[in-house]
Amino acid sequence: MLGLALIGGSGLSPIGIVDKITKSLTWVVLRKIRSYLPVNKQSTINTDKSQLVRLVGLSKSYETVVALDDVSLRMGVGEFVALRGSSGAGKSTLLYVVAGLLGPDKGSIQVAGSDVLEMSGLEKTRFRKEVIGLVFQDARLIPYLDIRANILVAGGDRSRADELIISLGLEARASHIPEELSAGEQQRVGLARALVHHPKLVLADEPTGNLDDVSAEAVILGLREFVDNGGSVLVVTHDPRVLEKVDRVITLEGGRISS
Ligand code: ADP
Repeated sequence: MLGLALIGGSGLSPIGIVDKITKSLTWVVLRKIRSYLPVNKQSTINTDKSQLVRLVGLSKSYETVVALDDVSLRMGVGEFVALRGSSGAGKSTLLYVVAGLLGPDKGSIQVAGSDVLEMSGLEKTRFRKEVIGLVFQDARLIPYLDIRANILVAGGDRSRADELIISLGLEARASHIPEELSAGEQQRVGLARALVHHPKLVLADEPTGNLDDVSAEAVILGLREFVDNGGSVLVVTHDPRVLEKVDRVITLEGGRISS
């Protein structure tokens, strides 16, 4: 009412008012549609192929606990890097900061040419959807979806999902639900979900922590193959089965890189 009164007061004819409202609505709808479109690759993807991750002077505290203390780190495209250190060293915090899930108190984070701290909430969601693949220690699958549907939750297409189902030895399990799978099979599904949308960087938090040798090997080979095909992996681990397959090991102690 107030809006119409204001427009009315501006001297526009009824047709002019309708025209103005239509233009405003069109503009709102177009903005909404644009927010759902993929991020413009030109503006967000790094042209310097040698550098996928660049962290400078990252610090993060939880009240009085210092989790990260002036951490700087670079990772190239096609690198498989392990992050190790004792419990409480800040490994998970670092991983979640790189994923844009946690904000640091200080420092800068560039991933694939994007400044993660400059992104809006929506841009961060798109960044994680397009650039990042996340693997946790427990697979965190949706209990009522079958394996193929669980993988496709992350995006990608059915043919890529089926390719991963085969390469991770899950063919016989594709139409089962998670509770019908072993922990190792579930973790392989978790890895397939992280890879299905062709991310640039996989962040994995102790992905083989609970696994028998066969499943651990499948997960490690899956990560290695992803790197050999041009992807990059940052994995928190103390598992020797993983450490022997990575290109570089970084050690965190008390929130600082010690080696
Ligand atoms: P790591 O993964 O190496 O075990 P974390 O990154 O989980 O280490 O934690 C680093 C430090 O921050 C630890 O001392 C931990 O207790 C503390 N910490 C982690 N998350 C929180 C939180 N949400 N609230 C308070 N302290 C936390």
